[in-house]
Amino acid sequence: MTPVPSKPEPLRFTPLNITQLTGQSQSHLQEVFPGHFLHREVVTAYLALVELAAEEGIALRLASGFRSFERQLAIWNAKARGERPVAGRHGELITMTELSEREKVLAILRWSALPGTSRHHWGSDMDIWDSAAVTDDYQLQLSPEEYATGGPFAACSYWLDTLISCGKTEFFRPYTGDDACGKAIGVAPEPWHLSFRPLAQICEQSLTLDVLYQVIENADICLQKAILENLDEIYSRFICSQY
Ligand SMILES: [Zn+2]
Repeated sequence: MTPVPSKPEPLRFTPLNITQLTGQSQSHLQEVFPGHFLHREVVTAYLALVELAAEEGIALRLASGFRSFERQLAIWNAKARGERPVAGRHGELITMTELSEREKVLAILRWSALPGTSRHHWGSDMDIWDSAAVTDDYQLQLSPEEYATGGPFAACSYWLDTLISCGKTEFFRPYTGDDACGKAIGVAPEPWHLSFRPLAQICEQSLTLDVLYQVIENADICLQKAILENLDEIYSRFICSQY
């Protein structure tokens, strides 16, 4: 018997246009809490996750949802100019003046997305924490230690691990970090970063090397020449590797 070919599932989301995709427009967003925005079609899924967490005594909060191109550009340029610290693989401080232009670009990329490529531009991605696990005056770091065993958000992180591995949510963690041999391949692991797969997948496919080249070429960005010269490598190591 000839197997009946299965129909491809219809897309649940309209692909973002280039300005939305690269954080240069906010027309795809909805404010979830004052100052915190997500894609308007992700809000319901996020609120459902918050409710599910509450059943476990976890008060899931957004540390960061949408982030604009301008904001990411300001972070990038401040790091490139040495006005903001750049950390190494284990959190150690890097002396930027000792690095070549290419090395500077790669060092910044370890912890900061290239403007135009942040998953936070899409409104599908967010950084989360558990406000029930800490006191009101707690200063959130978004450090790996906070989410590891012994840290205040270990229970929240474990709960998310279980939910994701059981396939009970469409959220996932795109930044797992190093490869199986422990070799750093791209962005550092971020246990606080969640992505809503049905929308993020569409965005990942839309963000091509050509789109990215145009965006960087037209941006007032530090280290522009080194970025453009190494864009193929950046794209495969820091952007595609997370998909
Ligand atoms: Zn994030």
